Amino acid sequence: MKKIFISETLSKIGKKIELFGWVNSVRSHGKLIFFDLRDRSGIIQCVVLKNASAFEKSLKLREEMVIRVRGKIQKRDEKLFNPKILTGEIEVIVEDIQILSEAKTLPIPIDSDGYEINEEIRLKYRYLDLKRERLQKNLVNRHRLILFIRNWLSQRGFIEVETPILTKSTPEGARDYLVPSRLHKGKFYALPQSPQQYKQLLMVSGIERYFQIARCFRDEDPRGDRQPEFTQLDIEMSFIEKEDILKLIEKLFIEIVEKLYPQKKITSIPFPRLTYQEAIEKFKSDKPDLRKNKNDLNELAFCFVVDFPMFEILEDGNLNPMHHPFTQPKLKNDEFNKEIVIDKLRNEPLSLLSEQYDFVCNGYEIGGGSIRTIDKEILIEVFKTLGHKEKDLYQKFGHLLEAFDYGVPPHGGIAPGIDRILMILENEPNIREVIAFPKTGEGRDLMMNSPSEVNDIQLKELGIEIENKN
Ligand code: ASP
Repeated sequence: MKKIFISETLSKIGKKIELFGWVNSVRSHGKLIFFDLRDRSGIIQCVVLKNASAFEKSLKLREEMVIRVRGKIQKRDEKLFNPKILTGEIEVIVEDIQILSEAKTLPIPIDSDGYEINEEIRLKYRYLDLKRERLQKNLVNRHRLILFIRNWLSQRGFIEVETPILTKSTPEGARDYLVPSRLHKGKFYALPQSPQQYKQLLMVSGIERYFQIARCFRDEDPRGDRQPEFTQLDIEMSFIEKEDILKLIEKLFIEIVEKLYPQKKITSIPFPRLTYQEAIEKFKSDKPDLRKNKNDLNELAFCFVVDFPMFEILEDGNLNPMHHPFTQPKLKNDEFNKEIVIDKLRNEPLSLLSEQYDFVCNGYEIGGGSIRTIDKEILIEVFKTLGHKEKDLYQKFGHLLEAFDYGVPPHGGIAPGIDRILMILENEPNIREVIAFPKTGEGRDLMMNSPSEVNDIQLKELGIEIENKN
């Protein structure tokens, strides 16, 4: 590959080079045409002299055209240095230009941070919106964060395992996205709300230390800053206790900040651990904002909230697990007594606490996890408490219940959300700014125009009829 990046031109003074990129701007001075060429690595000034063979062509240059430039790198006159760009002390004396692709005037400006532009238009033209420097930086930093996490966990004996996207409903508290099966008419896959059951089954398989940069799907009503699909750092470990997981996450995030965001400072190390009750009593919130100065963009106040109640009553009056049914219930005095736990599940479930913990930063819940129930009788009792009929349980969760008959190590895990963490680290106002192709609050992709209708043949193959098309 002979393409060099603009950032590599600094070492090429006096040499002939070939560059590829986009026309960032053009300035005509009559006898001279100046244009700035941009690629992923930066911007460089190009000069076309009137007597150059490329002069005629350079008159056709418009912003955002894609071109190839051949020429010689030379040092600029000291008076003309531009300290704002990396290549501000050099320029290209152009010998030849080839226009590879024309470009119409863009529907949105891309030289600002973009906050001032209507978001629907930005999302419709997301492929142009992503050209802006701020979003390019967010994508690069997202890549760096994920790469750092992958390496960090790999060095500590974790392996990344991919789990299916076409799967079966998992009770993670939201509605499932369903995918109709053509080969098995009338049956549906569900997209995973999280890899929860698979990662627990991997513990039965003896993997011991699992992680995955996992895409999760939840069909929730539009509420705040949510996305129907989002990315979690999903972790599960065997033969550990709650504090092992909290320490692992604490260490990982201290190093993320040290290595990738050294300008930021963490308010308290070790990260404070508050019980759910303390958090509610002191801060009236289960995701307290413990920053000393809420205006300081570089302050990160991490904490863990532990000892959540096992269940809560929803607005519709239904009993719901605070985390999910796989979380281990426990008694108020931190003791574990199976008979008493089963009795409470049957008679006063709301009095039970659980081994759930949440990971919180600056007032946002950025992850949750728990130590899991490995006692089959308790798990069945939890499901019954939640209103599942015992006879349906094997149909819904038979894989897990049966697996627990074949030797299951004690295990637990956590799943910090990558999008929300990046939003905080990049000081962005919402998670859409750190996702390449996000959906609107109503779950629409304005660029691809999805969800969209499908044709009658597709529906027929699936055995689906749409009621009331309008
Ligand atoms: N599956 C859980 C969630 O998505 C995380 C966990 O319990 O590890 O919230």
